[in-house]
Amino acid sequence: MPLVNMKDMLDHAYTHGYAVGAFDLVGLDFLEAIVSGAERARAPVILSLAESHFAHFNFELAMPAVEAAARRARVPVAIHLDHGASMESAVKAIRLGANGVMVDTSHLSIFDNIAATRVLVETARACGVCVEGELGYVPGVEGEDAERHPGPVQYTTLAEARAFAERTGVDCLAVSIGTVHGRMKGKPRLDWGRLKEINMALGLPLVIHGGTGLSDDQFRKLITLGVAKINYYTALADVAGDTIHAAARAGARGYTALLADVRTAVAAEVERCLRVWGAAGRAAEVLDRCRPWLNVEHLVVYNAPNLDEVRLRALMAEGQRVLSAIPGVREVTVGSAAEEGVPYRHCWLIRFSAPEVIESYKQHPDHVDFAGRLFRPAAADRLTTDFRIADLAAGATALPLTGVPLQPPPLSNSRNGWSLVDKPSAA
Ligand SMILES: [Zn+2]
Repeated sequence: MPLVNMKDMLDHAYTHGYAVGAFDLVGLDFLEAIVSGAERARAPVILSLAESHFAHFNFELAMPAVEAAARRARVPVAIHLDHGASMESAVKAIRLGANGVMVDTSHLSIFDNIAATRVLVETARACGVCVEGELGYVPGVEGEDAERHPGPVQYTTLAEARAFAERTGVDCLAVSIGTVHGRMKGKPRLDWGRLKEINMALGLPLVIHGGTGLSDDQFRKLITLGVAKINYYTALADVAGDTIHAAARAGARGYTALLADVRTAVAAEVERCLRVWGAAGRAAEVLDRCRPWLNVEHLVVYNAPNLDEVRLRALMAEGQRVLSAIPGVREVTVGSAAEEGVPYRHCWLIRFSAPEVIESYKQHPDHVDFAGRLFRPAAADRLTTDFRIADLAAGATALPLTGVPLQPPPLSNSRNGWSLVDKPSAA
């Protein structure tokens, strides 16, 4: 099944009165377990990666696996950067495949938090990516994540929430109403009145950080008051830890023996949560109603008759460096024809995270400068087009199985073939 647009997923949950789980993953075991738990519940799910956990795994190495797991999952999935440390982190996460981002500026003053979040929203929106803001402060008490969130709780106030949502344009908002990061001490007391007022004033999907330790009834009540995304990690880490302790007590020693039951245990907890939160059984609806998250390939084929090999390679290297850094650009591939006698000798293949990037890329000052100053003067003879990547696996069941040629027709190499998609206005 395809990745789906995260804003659409959260809007669906908000409108239909359930919450999507955003489970922080800290390795392949968690990744497989979260997807497996969601599949068993037939629930949409958010694969969440918290920057504070990047000490435990390599984010750049992990993301291709996260994306692959999402694309082959049997339920709709979104990929989210949780508690990003900076704008650069958000842009990097989008490049690596995230379609939702949160940069934690909740420790700043309300004015600075609004200003920083607004810049993030502008950048992310140009990439089609969903933004979560956070207002108020959710502290840590104890447990694996607690020490990363020092200090006392600061409740989100109604007036600040209203101003923040209006001025930033965030797609969803994390609020502080009495939950804590990590494990609770004692029975958590939640400020229901505050949550109700914020929900009524904003009409936006709300997010709860620090889901661990709440009762099923508390979860249900949170959801009736507008919570559509629940961040949940500590309980999964505890379940995994307990499983490893139990294996050790039973005599297991080696790495794989100690970890043998972790996936099953974490998947069971994920499934249990998704059932309590009302997300179970929603996968088909979400797929039906939410836009699929499909990358776009921006293809440029060109000739540069006046450049020698050295200058051509310099042009390619400069383009790769400059264009790769534009938000929403996932990859820039350059190349030259493998055969002689073709109408175009060279190509750029630039992968955008989403269709929104077609416009924002075109207007980005770094692209305008590179195209106008270096590329277009050297490559007047060129063709450009944007291809939306087809997700054939997702649509396969809808296709008739008879009458479909086993081999696609050969691609035309002729100039007429390319000219069908000729849009020479941009590089
Ligand atoms: Zn959090």
